[in-house]
Order: sequence, then C-alpha cells, then structure tokens
Amino acid sequence: LKPPNRTFHGHLRLLSSDVYSQYESIRQGKQEIPKYFNFASDVLDKWSEIEKAGKRPSNPAFWWVSGEGEEVKWSFEELGFLSRKVANVLTKECGLQKGDKLIVILPRIPEWWLVKVACMRAGIVIIPGTSQLSAKDILYRLQASKAKCIITTDKLAPAVDSVASQCQLLKTKLMVSKGSREGWLNFTELYQNQSADHSCIKTRIQDPMVIFFTSGTTGSPKMTQHSQGSLGFRPLLSERYERVKPDTGWILTSVASFFDPWVFGSCVFIHNLPRTDSAVILNTLCRFPIDVLVGAPTLFRMLVQNDLSKYKFMNLKYCVSGGEPLNPEVMEQWKSQTGLDIHEVYGQTEMGIICCVCKGMKIKPGSMGKAAPLYDVQIVDKNANILPPGQQGEIAVRSKPIRPLGFFSEYLDNPKKTAESERGDFYVTGDRGTMDEEGYFQFIGRDDDIIISSGYRIGPFEVESALIEHPAVVETAVVSSPDPLRGEVVKAFVVLSPTFSSTDLESLTRDLQDHVKKTTAPYKYPRKVEFVKELPKTITGKIKRNELRDKEWGRM
Ligand code: ATP
Ligand code: MG
Repeated sequence: LKPPNRTFHGHLRLLSSDVYSQYESIRQGKQEIPKYFNFASDVLDKWSEIEKAGKRPSNPAFWWVSGEGEEVKWSFEELGFLSRKVANVLTKECGLQKGDKLIVILPRIPEWWLVKVACMRAGIVIIPGTSQLSAKDILYRLQASKAKCIITTDKLAPAVDSVASQCQLLKTKLMVSKGSREGWLNFTELYQNQSADHSCIKTRIQDPMVIFFTSGTTGSPKMTQHSQGSLGFRPLLSERYERVKPDTGWILTSVASFFDPWVFGSCVFIHNLPRTDSAVILNTLCRFPIDVLVGAPTLFRMLVQNDLSKYKFMNLKYCVSGGEPLNPEVMEQWKSQTGLDIHEVYGQTEMGIICCVCKGMKIKPGSMGKAAPLYDVQIVDKNANILPPGQQGEIAVRSKPIRPLGFFSEYLDNPKKTAESERGDFYVTGDRGTMDEEGYFQFIGRDDDIIISSGYRIGPFEVESALIEHPAVVETAVVSSPDPLRGEVVKAFVVLSPTFSSTDLESLTRDLQDHVKKTTAPYKYPRKVEFVKELPKTITGKIKRNELRDKEWGRM
C-alpha cells in the first residue's frame, strides 16, 4: 500500500466536509442530525467517484487473501458493481424488501462484504452470525430475529435444514457454494448472472440497519438493533481516526474491517485463516503491509508466547485490543519484544466504542483510555449520581436528553432489558470501574463478576493480571467460590505454561498465592487455585466466568 499523499486529508474532507460542518452545528444545538443516511451511497459510492477522478491513492478498497494463497482485490468501483448485483439477487430472487431481515452466517470470505453492502443498498436489515454457530445457536437466532432469509455455506446448510421446520417465517435459503442442495438457491450462480443495475434505496438515519447478537458472555445473547447512522455515520464525524493514517490495512475483527476503514477510504485487508494460529498471523504481518492489528486480548496473550524477535513486521505501527481487559503484563511483553504499544478500546455491542486510547494519547497500562468522541462517560452510583474521580461505581454513558448517535436503538423484543439499562440520565453498562483525575477509565469487572469476600469487594481482573505476571501462568480466570467462614473467597482457574507441567502443584499454588500477595493488596490473593487445560470461552474468545462460578456454587 502506498503511503498517503499530502492531499489525501483534503479528500477526506471533500467526502465529509458537509457532514463535518453539519455535526458542529448539531453539537451546538443549531441543527438536527440529517434525516437520511445510507453508508453505501453516502460513503462507498462517494469514494468510488473520488477514485474515478484519480484523487485517491491506488490502494485497493478491499484485499483478501486466503490461507491457501488465493487473492481478491477490489477497487471501490468494483465493490460497487458487484454489490449491486448482489442487491438484485436479494430483492429479485429472494423477494426481500426494505426492512426485511437476513441472517448472514459466512466465514471471512469476500461474499460477506458484498452481502453487507448489498443489504445497505436495498435497506435489508442484516443479522451477522459467525460460522462457528451450532444448529441450536442458529435456531435461536432465526426464531428470535424472525428473519425471512438466511445465507450461509454448504458446511452449515445441514445445520440450518435440521432446524428450519421450526422457523415458519424463514422463506428463502441461499448457499454460497459450488454445489447444489435441495431447497436452497445457489448464491454464486445467481449473482454471476445478475444485472448490476440497482439504485440504492433512500434510508432514514434512524432506520434499522443491523441487528447484532451480544457475545452471550453472561447468558443468552441479546439482540441489539443499530440504525443506519449508528455505526456508519458516527466515525464519519469523530476526530478520533483523523490521526490514524488512512492507508490502513486491518485484520481480524469484523466491525473494524468495515465501517471505520471505509469511512476513510482505507483498504480493508483480510487474511482468512483456517484457524487462529500464531505463526500464521505473525508471518502474515511480515509478508503484507499491514499497519493496524486489531484483536481481543486472547490474541495478544497467544502471540507473546512466541519468540517475536524472529519476526520482522513489514509495516505494523498500531495495535488495538478490545472486548476484554488487557493485562498490563501482556502489554509490556508485546512492547518490549516488538517496540509497539497496544491501544486499548472498551466497548459494547450496544454502542460500539465507549472508551479508547487514541493515537498520541499517553498510555497508562491497565487503563482503557478516555471517553470516546461523542460520548459522555461517567462513573455513577445506584441512583445515577456521578461519582468523583477515584471512586468505584458503574460505568455509564449519558443518554438523555439526546440519545447519542452510535447507541443501539433497543434490545429487540425485550423492553424489560432495555428499561433495566436506563438509570436517570444514563445508560448503565453493567461494568464496574473508576475514573482518575485525568479522565482515564479503569475496568474493575462486570458487575456480576465482583467477588465480595469478608466485606471486601474484589474485581477479578486485578487478581488475574497479577497472576499472569508469573511465568507459570498462560491464562487465568478468577471467580468467587463458596466459603463457610467468609461467605465467598477468591478462586483462580489457571492454565499452566507447558514448561511448568511437571512442577509440584502444591508448592506452585503457594508460589502463586505469595506472588499475588506481593503484587496486590494481600486480601485479594486466591485462597483456592485449580489448574485446568483450558478456560470456557465464548465464540469471540471471551472468558465465561459465570460458567466457572456457577460450577463452584453448584448451580449447573
Ligand atoms: P452479553 O451481554 O451477551 O453477556 P458481552 O457483554 O460479552 O455478552 P459484548 O457486547 O460483546 O457482549 O461485550 C461487551 C462487554 O465486554 C463489556 O460490557 C465489557 O464487560 C467487556 N469489555 C469490552 N472491552 C473491554 C475492555 N477493553 N476492557 C474490559 N472489558 C471490556
Ligand atoms: Mg453485555
């Protein structure tokens, strides 16, 4: 990828100057947010025009490489052409109309991006799901969302068929495949023969665009509905990314590999890996000009287990971690081995990024940065009173009088959950934390994960971060465990490093306990330690502490 030229930022403004000035007025209360917005026509097609006029660096808009070495590169114009064909498949062949719902369960193949853009063109509400879903997960999603159509690959088609009879509203099944299957339309064939004449539908900025299911870390995933403006319009207005160079290649996360890079005309780079293998990821970073790497802490924890001095990254400049707290130890190891900082982001399916460490900001290990642009983030108590710096409370985002752009519209079909998330003028995240004098937020734990032992409130993250500093610990989860005397005590589940597999576990337990007593307040040390092969995780790689906790308390 070419370095960005000087005039590039000019084009960025060219694209967004009208909305930028509009937003300034919105902020000052002089103007309302625009009535209509569609990411395909207002962003992608604009970039296509800029590209045609020769005013955009010659990077592809989309660059995809498979584990087997296949490659796909599209300009914005090609992306437009192909996604119009797909829009015709969805509207003509599948009979979908504006507002209809489509579940998309595809691996990271180019069709995923085409379908997503096509849905925007046709106003179809997209419901993304990962291809690791089981038949039961698919049934839950089909029934909960009332989707009319599903698109998936031949691998998952049998799972869909096994539950389809229980989903009366499901009308059409589309398969991305070379083969055929009874009862299924073949996406690949239909799309190749389709016309590329399609005019993008006009959508109101508040119209629904996507329904995400939350990760399901604490129970059944919840349906969070986002509007056309929520994800596509917000980054257009935030200054956050102006400081990130726009010729960015992104890897790994799906939100970060769509809206944010394309708002800035960047290249979306995808390496479709058959499985998460650290050597393949590290080699990819050496072979391709990737500037930005985005992943959950699990990814970085896995990568630092390697000897990183063997790898010379081609372009990597910026690393982002989110989804779970990042242990300071992992951040330090990564920095000392690669010279790179990890910028933390904190967010939720409900409203995208809430806090972040932006480029150029001071990094405080163990902190997830300051409030993201457009959000007023505070620590509040049970009555929605704002707490002063240093005091522990619930992380909350101001949602009244105006619900900020970027917020989900509601939990679909769940007014009770929606109401529970509101407290006074705030939306409460369900996470506990503190804010320091400089406005940096510290994550303490999910509300339910807090351990109360002999009257002390203990956040699992701090104990986990202390444990992971010990060379024997690869990964750990800390939960409460019943205790006749103290009510509950701290218990650590520990995944051991292979080099410690033959160590005497009793003395290692004492060693770990001493280590925690030295690094944090002694009362936080884990009175119980259990060594395990792996930790229960969600599909997105988050530790399911509630599962471990339920087991401890005999609730399973
Ligand atoms: P569910 O709501 O279904 O139980 P979930 O909350 O894990 O699942 P997501 O919306 O994917 O679903 O995750 C948001 C949550 O992830 C946050 O509320 C927070 O607990 C955690 N999280 C995200 N980023 C960070 C971070 N940087 N540090 C600490 N925790 C984080
Ligand atoms: Mg949640």
